[in-house]
Amino acid sequence: MSADAATDEAPRTIVVIGGGQAAGWVVKTLRKEGFDGRLVMIADEMHLPYERPPLSKAVLAGDADIDTVRIVKPDEFETLNVEAWQPDCATLLDRAARIVKTASGRKVRYDRLVIATGGAARRLPRQIAKTSHLTYLRTLDEAVALGERLRGSRRVLVVGGGWIGLEVAATARKLGVEACVVEGAARLCARSVPPAVSDFLLALHRANGVDVRLCVSLVSLDDHPDGASRVRATFADGSTLDADFAVAGIGLAPNTMLAEAAGLAIADGIVVDEFGATEDPHVFACGDVANHPNAWLKRRVRLESWANAQNQAIAAARAVLGVKTPYAEIPWFWSDQYDVNLQILGDIPTDCSPVVRGSLDEKRATLFFVEHGNLRGVIAINTPRELKLARKWMSQGRPVDLAALTDIGKTLA
Ligand code: FAD
Ligand code: NAP
Repeated sequence: MSADAATDEAPRTIVVIGGGQAAGWVVKTLRKEGFDGRLVMIADEMHLPYERPPLSKAVLAGDADIDTVRIVKPDEFETLNVEAWQPDCATLLDRAARIVKTASGRKVRYDRLVIATGGAARRLPRQIAKTSHLTYLRTLDEAVALGERLRGSRRVLVVGGGWIGLEVAATARKLGVEACVVEGAARLCARSVPPAVSDFLLALHRANGVDVRLCVSLVSLDDHPDGASRVRATFADGSTLDADFAVAGIGLAPNTMLAEAAGLAIADGIVVDEFGATEDPHVFACGDVANHPNAWLKRRVRLESWANAQNQAIAAARAVLGVKTPYAEIPWFWSDQYDVNLQILGDIPTDCSPVVRGSLDEKRATLFFVEHGNLRGVIAINTPRELKLARKWMSQGRPVDLAALTDIGKTLA
């Protein structure tokens, strides 16, 4: 059933589950669009909605805190007139009665529900992780604790050569801490970038003193045998590595349990349409937890990015109120590591061979992925202007000339 057929009456009570970036943008947008009914936000973290990108960068380095990363300031949040039930956890969704129950025993009946529960850091299996000196990074509190721990350490072991792992390693080096990154795959960030960019990231980290080990299978992470509060990692080849503590960044598991138990369709996330609507006309979902049909990629996808958390949330909040603007943005995210700003826009198959403008060795290059004369995706390494131009061309569907793209003597316009 489509959201059109939901109900005849405008919603009076809207409940939002989650308190992250997507939930923050849902409540902000609902009020901006004129919703003046009851608005309940159930969030299991104690902080008001905040942005996570600085957690592995400025917060970890000690250069930012809750005041810098908030989406809405407390007094602004006050004016939104949101009943923030936090910290509390939504534990049951009864779709027939349209009721949400929480861990603290509260319950609320909704006219519309938005699920923005994001995801949780994937955990190492218990048979591998046998030490308490292992941390993960998803929340502000974890970032603050990890930053303090880093500053008091000599060497950190990072498990996972994805975005969390590389950003934590870069921040550790900034703080003067030795870092070793162990990755199971043969290259870094293998799920999101082509080999040329994996090689670039490998060289970047090694040049900054990180001990990066690829194709490494971690079999055990134990308390150090000397009894000190340190860890010892053992790998499949029998080798070991000691560190003060370990951080694992081995991916994200979407928080779909509540939706799944309520019988909503799940396929790598909660299945929604381009408006964030589920098959239940009273229930919407957005952010890291939602799997939507992406117009640019021409397939369903669950995106884990800042831009998606904000803009899909805005589209979903509007759709909740019956204002149907499809969420159809070109996927985009970035990473900051050392002196490198890397941005990824559009569709970049991880096995493609993009054309390169500039020089990866000089840490200034734009990689274009062109299909049938049109740009499908771009990776910009310290070239934000070119990314901006590419975004414009892609939005306009403007064909590109390969020779002009790679001619560094010509300014792109
Ligand atoms: P979340 O941020 O996960 O928020 C969901 C919230 O809901 C959480 O607080 C969760 O605890 C709560 N919740 C879950 N279940 C319940 C329940 N049953 N009851 C109550 N509350 C519940 N993206 C980029 O594009 N660029 C970056 O540089 C970048 N850096 C990042 C760095 C880090 C360290 C992390 C962790 C993420 C980064 N991201 C980055 C990704 C981006 O931050 C996420 O895509 C975004 O935060 C997703 O927002 P969300 O609101 O969908 O989910
Ligand atoms: P990720 O980017 O998916 O990377 C996880 C990495 O860990 C993958 O390379 C994975 O390899 C590897 N891995 C998995 N199990 C392992 C094991 N047992 N031993 C060694 N390596 C292992 O996820 P993430 O870095 O943990 O990030 C989590 C979330 O934060 C994501 O949503 C991410 O988008 C977000 N985040 C984003 C940014 C950014 O956009 N700049 C920065 C930080 C965090 P396989 O692929 O082979 O499994």
